[in-house]
Amino acid sequence: MDLTYTEEEQDFRARLRAWLAKVLPELPAKPSPDDWPGRRAYDLGWQRRLYEAGYAGLHWPVDAGGRGATPTQHLIFLEETERAGAPYVGANFVGLLHAGPTIAAEGSAEQRARWLPPVLRGDEVWCQGFSEPDAGSDLASLRTRAVRDGDAYVVTGSKIWTSHAEVADWCELLVRTDPQAPKHRGISWLAMPMDAPGVTVRPLRTLAGSTEFAEVFLDEVRVPVANRVGAENDGWRVTMVTLSFERGTAFVGEVVACRRTLGELARTAKANGRWDDPVLRRRLGRLYGEFGALWRLTQWNVSESEGSGGVPGIGGSVFKLAYSHARQELYDVAAEVLGAASLSLEEEWTLDRLSSLSYTIAAGTSQIQQNIVAERILGLPKGR
Ligand SMILES: Cc1cc2nc3c(=O)[nH]c(=O)nc-3n(C[C@H](O)[C@H](O)[C@H](O)COP(=O)(O)OP(=O)(O)OC[C@H]3O[C@@H](n4cnc5c(N)ncnc54)[C@H](O)[C@@H]3O)c2cc1C
Repeated sequence: MDLTYTEEEQDFRARLRAWLAKVLPELPAKPSPDDWPGRRAYDLGWQRRLYEAGYAGLHWPVDAGGRGATPTQHLIFLEETERAGAPYVGANFVGLLHAGPTIAAEGSAEQRARWLPPVLRGDEVWCQGFSEPDAGSDLASLRTRAVRDGDAYVVTGSKIWTSHAEVADWCELLVRTDPQAPKHRGISWLAMPMDAPGVTVRPLRTLAGSTEFAEVFLDEVRVPVANRVGAENDGWRVTMVTLSFERGTAFVGEVVACRRTLGELARTAKANGRWDDPVLRRRLGRLYGEFGALWRLTQWNVSESEGSGGVPGIGGSVFKLAYSHARQELYDVAAEVLGAASLSLEEEWTLDRLSSLSYTIAAGTSQIQQNIVAERILGLPKGR
């Protein structure tokens, strides 16, 4: 792996930096955190700008509508957009970072043509319908069933913790298509339109007060068989591709954001006198080292994924495990730096701290990542 930047990459960085400096001041004001339709419009508007400037789907393959950029260019893009304070991927998270890449890797030509361009153009939002009330960590225990009826599946069941379900057009949905098969072998991966009759979305409120996710109830929802990605009952394999993207590459931009936050925190500590505390300084220093190491790990993972057809490897679990803990630690330190101010729900820092608690759960808990690292990377015996 070569970690130095070529002339072409440096040129790419300079052009991107100049473009960001021009467009960011023109952006409309950010909507309030609970204005979901407003947030959807804002996030899609930003995606449309990226698309028009040729920066949409940089990391997607060219035959999937992407730019076929090198992994390093993708990382430069993440670094520069974050450094400039560009909008976060937001409502486009699932579509751009794991449903889209899964369809690019596993979908047919028709499926790619139908679903990928609207994600890149900022026309459609996706959500992820994997977890169920009794199937979170043990995802393969899912019970939502899909019964074939002519050219459609009739889907009945429920999903939970579905982020952005309120504003999504499509859902990457896992269903049980063969209840008799061993649990990993009877699952299929479907693209379900969220406006289909029988879909009910009931928002859930998080600790931070936001309704970013929801319960989704499915009552005899008809989903065309043509919307199945991969073969019938081969959905577990397709799911592993989705989770590889979700754990391996979807959070990498946030590492840059955390490094920026750390810098802000150090400046605040210097301004309010907390910098004089050597224990606090040591914690800040350790986090600085950890986020630096995570960025190197990211470069490694992204570069490795190039050699395996663009699908990130199992190293994503190491990244997810380390990143989600470092992020929690970052906001714990923030509370120390801010003191009483960190208790106010009006403070963005407080809301970020509360939501950082979810990072060791979302996209697979830390315990599950530890099991994966132990069994599949270190080759230790299975715990169960
Ligand atoms: C902010 C947020 C957003 C989310 N967004 C989505 C989304 O958009 N779509 C979606 O489908 N899901 C989403 N989820 C759900 C998430 O993927 C699940 O919450 C997660 O997989 C854990 O499942 P669970 O909540 O059922 O916990 P459980 O599986 O019940 O686990 C409870 C505890 O037991 C531990 N445990 C369970 N099994 C084992 C084992 N074999 N070994 C060791 N420990 C074990 C777990 O680590 C955990 O600590 C989201 C969750 C959060 C917090």
